[in-house]
Amino acid sequence: MTNATLRITLLATATALMALPQVAVAEGELNLYSSRHYDTDERLYSDFTEATGITINRIEGNADELITRMQAEGANSPADVFLTVDTVRLARAAELGLLQPTESGVLEARIPAYLQDDQNRWFGFSQRSRILFYDKEAVENPPMTYEALADPQYKGMVCIRSSTNVYTQNIVAALIEHLGAEPTKEWATGVVANFARAPQGGDTDQLRGLVSGECGVAMSNTYYFARAVRKSVDGVSDSIDKIGWVFPNQNSIGAHMNISGGGVAAHAPNRENAVAFLEYLASDQAQQYFSSGNDEYPAVPGVGISESVAKLGIFRPDTIDLSSIAANAGEAQAILNEAGWE
Ligand code: FE
Repeated sequence: MTNATLRITLLATATALMALPQVAVAEGELNLYSSRHYDTDERLYSDFTEATGITINRIEGNADELITRMQAEGANSPADVFLTVDTVRLARAAELGLLQPTESGVLEARIPAYLQDDQNRWFGFSQRSRILFYDKEAVENPPMTYEALADPQYKGMVCIRSSTNVYTQNIVAALIEHLGAEPTKEWATGVVANFARAPQGGDTDQLRGLVSGECGVAMSNTYYFARAVRKSVDGVSDSIDKIGWVFPNQNSIGAHMNISGGGVAAHAPNRENAVAFLEYLASDQAQQYFSSGNDEYPAVPGVGISESVAKLGIFRPDTIDLSSIAANAGEAQAILNEAGWE
């Protein structure tokens, strides 16, 4: 982009700039390695480009592919920012040396400490809660805690994702932190004994199982349900009134939270642009997109949430430090394997 075209773009977007005071205007490019798989993220990227003149080159893939690619590229990697979902994956990227610490007053002020890596290698930009949904017609006493999923009264009722899924690994890692490894292993064994079917499909498939009657109780991230409230999701939206939900552990640890987040790549050729992009993701406008576009909870306190998300109600989140959950990832996988969780 030439200076002349940049100036024209900036004039045209004066309003957008005023809405984003913390984003520095800079020229150039940003190479974004992203595994966020949501169409609605388009607005996030185009608004950033409009406000800053920085062009985003998106390299998309699943998180593990992107991590492998960054490892192979080494010091020559063009990656500036790595964006993904789940604490466990962010921690893995950090442990592999693929992310560098970012010192940013904006990020420190906007993103709560418990949603950041303790070495500032990654930051959470949106949150989702992993909660329990149930068939209101079939289940009179739904489980009120994660622990209760292992209760024999739910034998043959529980639908949940496989042990290879990071959402599953992440909640087990959180339970290890709260309950200890041995009780968590007993819990996992009890949940396996209550399976309605071998783990299969994504979160929406767990909700579909409630509608079809195959499952009595299911675990899913909040945004899959909120999405089915906001727009038509096959096999869920038509019977959404059949589905009840419980934010678990409201009298103890709170409902399990996970994040979508990212950090600056270790060898970022456009480091300043990378930091500007992360700071933009923490702006009110970007935070609102996470809620209105993908039914997530903003990471920044005080940012309003969309109607579909608000329908779920107010709850007590688990505010355990995500760094400690990340440290338990390996042990969580071992426990799942030992419990015979497919
Ligand atoms: Fe998801």
